[in-house]
Amino acid sequence: MIDNIIKPLLLEDETYTKIGRLLEQEMAKGLSKTTNPSAKVKMLPTYVRALPNGLEEGNFLALDLGGTNFRVLLISLSKESGVRMENKIYPVPEKIMTGTGKELFDHIAYCISDFIHEHNIQGQHLPLGFTFSFPCKQESLSVGRLISWTKGFSCSDVEGENVVDLLHAAIKRRNDISVECVAILNDTVGCLMSCAYLDHDAEIGVILGTGTNACYMEKLDKVELWDQDKAEPSQVVINTEWGAFGDDGCLDFIRTDYDFQIDERSLNRGRQLFEKMISGMYMGEIVRLVVVECVRTSLMFSGVLGRFKERDCFKTKYVSAVEKDHGRGSFENTKRIIEQMGIKEFTDSDCSALFRICQAVSIRAAKLSSAAIVTLMNRINRPNITVAVDGSLFRFHPRFEGVMKETIAEMYNFGHQFKLMLSEDGSGKGAALVAAVAHRLKNN
Ligand code: ADP
Ligand code: MG
Repeated sequence: MIDNIIKPLLLEDETYTKIGRLLEQEMAKGLSKTTNPSAKVKMLPTYVRALPNGLEEGNFLALDLGGTNFRVLLISLSKESGVRMENKIYPVPEKIMTGTGKELFDHIAYCISDFIHEHNIQGQHLPLGFTFSFPCKQESLSVGRLISWTKGFSCSDVEGENVVDLLHAAIKRRNDISVECVAILNDTVGCLMSCAYLDHDAEIGVILGTGTNACYMEKLDKVELWDQDKAEPSQVVINTEWGAFGDDGCLDFIRTDYDFQIDERSLNRGRQLFEKMISGMYMGEIVRLVVVECVRTSLMFSGVLGRFKERDCFKTKYVSAVEKDHGRGSFENTKRIIEQMGIKEFTDSDCSALFRICQAVSIRAAKLSSAAIVTLMNRINRPNITVAVDGSLFRFHPRFEGVMKETIAEMYNFGHQFKLMLSEDGSGKGAALVAAVAHRLKNN
């Protein structure tokens, strides 16, 4: 029965509550000086101490690197007209994602130069904010050392280095543009900043895209690792790096055979185990592995695998498309996708099996992220909290947001209000805002 195969993906409410508590323990470990070195959830201080107040102004360049698309942006902030942005997407070929660090940063510098020449802004000296969405240990707003690559990147000679130095060195090698990177930030921080610009209750930023991660505003006296000045504001944004939750084995009690398979075949084995159960880079592949199991036991497609045998062939956007058929009374999208997967003969019961598998995988992902968000909301413990969320999985999946709202409302029993707010291009806008807030505080 399909039910038996799906069952390990269906978790009880109490299990999600337990996962929330485990994450709370992991976060405490990450924040404490003595346990941080061995903690898997690193709770990295970001040096972002203040959120925008809506009065930020100026022109900025921004870079967004951390998934399949790399972008260069030009952003103007003004009190009167808000945010104006222009951006260009530059693909990062897989050869560069897994090549040398020098090749990667030369490519980035080439893209910045191309963008600057296209917009004819060679003459201006614009500060640049770099949204670099990999775990970094920051030493200041403009010094961030890569801890380890994630999400399919593995460029040599970058781990342990200050990414801003590598960028500046590549810009210098070209010698055709004048650009200074004044801030490096995580996409979670960009996401939080972009929403806080509009909504002053925003204190949490969550990414549900290629990967998953979150940041939040923490009180300095809770951050033992903070060895800088404790002047006002006595708070700092913490990049949790919650994607690594479970890397010490504490989530093995819920991990299925499919989760173990995903991990074994990944570039970063044994790492980012929470992320591998949730995010867009993996969700489609989990569904594919469950389908393979169903076909193998002749429960689907009369035992014919078609392209389901090809790794990474079933995209997470197909999961969204299949789930969009729900309630329509037809399997329009589902049928189209099954055909695309090279299966010529199938029945309505195959369609409904595929739907149930997609749903089980998505609901688990949405509830795991909700449990983690509730853990952060409990830490912040304010009457009104806005959670800023960015990423294509959250944006485009038909049920993800709905399941998250229900789950958070059930789990968050303080009676406080919360809101999920979609971040509009947080990685770009946020980079400009971090640069601008730094500028404002400096001039105060
Ligand atoms: P990034 O996280 O790299 O900045 P995105 O936020 O665009 O980029 O997320 C990319 C991820 O979103 C990919 O892993 C992709 O599988 C997933 N994705 C893209 N479109 C959809 C969709 N319609 N439904 C669900 N997931 C999607
Ligand atoms: Mg992004």
